[in-house]
Amino acid sequence: MNVLVINAGSSSLKYQLLNPESGVLLAKGLCERIGIDGKFTYKADGKATKDAVDVSMPTHAEAIQAVMDALTDSENGVIGSMKEIDAVGHRVVHGGEAFNKSVLITDDVLQAIEDCIPLAPLHNPANLTGIRACQKVMPGVPMVAVFDTAFHQTMPARAYMYALPYEYYEKDKVRRYGFHGTSHKYVAGRAAAMLGKKPEELKLISCHLGNGSSVTAVDGGKSVDTSMGFTPLAGVPMGTRSGDLDAGILQYVMNKYNLSIDEMLNVLNKKSGVQGVSGVSSDFRDLSDAFEKGNERAGLAVDMFNYGVKKLIGAYAAAMGGVDAVIFTAGVGENSAAQRMAIASGLEFMGVKMDAEANKVRGKEAVISAADSRVKVLLIPTNEELMIAMDTAAIVK
Ligand code: AMP
Repeated sequence: MNVLVINAGSSSLKYQLLNPESGVLLAKGLCERIGIDGKFTYKADGKATKDAVDVSMPTHAEAIQAVMDALTDSENGVIGSMKEIDAVGHRVVHGGEAFNKSVLITDDVLQAIEDCIPLAPLHNPANLTGIRACQKVMPGVPMVAVFDTAFHQTMPARAYMYALPYEYYEKDKVRRYGFHGTSHKYVAGRAAAMLGKKPEELKLISCHLGNGSSVTAVDGGKSVDTSMGFTPLAGVPMGTRSGDLDAGILQYVMNKYNLSIDEMLNVLNKKSGVQGVSGVSSDFRDLSDAFEKGNERAGLAVDMFNYGVKKLIGAYAAAMGGVDAVIFTAGVGENSAAQRMAIASGLEFMGVKMDAEANKVRGKEAVISAADSRVKVLLIPTNEELMIAMDTAAIVK
């Protein structure tokens, strides 16, 4: 079975063609500058990435057509014809309270995704455009929507409610939704496999640490709390996002600098986080280089981030009444041994004991805690595309 996974942005579209049973990646690539001019990058399994080429892409439909042409190309293609694509899995950012799992796309589903636009005004319209373009180019091929928010719909009300006037929830759906659900679900599943246990038997804390970061408590295979909120701005400090802060700061800063709410939100989303604190970069590699050269603020920014993740691990262990394993994933979690160590050290009181040697690993599944650590610490590379392909296959079968 071959599943095409599509992640559509407003002017870009990432794709992968995967076999969800074997996990084999056949081809992947990126369409950029859609609606402007069009750049296309393609990589077939086992071959070098082809240089980006100019392909006219007035709309997402031409982008999808370019993907089809490349996948079926006689020289660099990986399939004989479009008929070899059994289904398409679409990443959709926000499913609101309407979707607690992935679903086959129907007209009603498209309408429900549209109804969620106020909750994700930048992302859902782009995701819908990607779906409609695929339907145009690939009529009759079953399509599935996989939501970033769906995995977190199992959170109890005490975790997802904000202590605001209740009508904001009742009338306006203001609540914690959480994001990165596809990633947390994938690594939680892999953790159970690595530990040789059923997901129902495990209490896990999944730390997705990248440019955007979130930490999730997974009890018995279900998300019971997560650090991102109504939007992805909440939780730990991120590359350029502030993470949690005292809302009173907004009034103080906005009055002082005469900022509009949009300008303020732009600061919180684009100019804060480790970038804002360090003044150096949003990239954790740049921060560690700068710190080594003596930049104290770069060190402080990373320290604040690590501390934020550590506090959440403690909080979620308390929330679940224990924890069997802590998972590190995404760019920082998969690659930075130093940050994993900084986050997990000092947690010996709750049964976490790292193995410094085992932790010297990057980008592959590994147990990085000591043999006698009561709580296992796992490095698990995330694979959101494979999770989308697996969900898609399970639904269309
Ligand atoms: P992601 O959003 O998952 O792609 O993660 C991107 C982040 O991972 C960036 O901030 C990178 O600096 C960070 N990253 C990648 N490799 C390393 C590394 N070796 N050490 C620290 N951070 C890394």
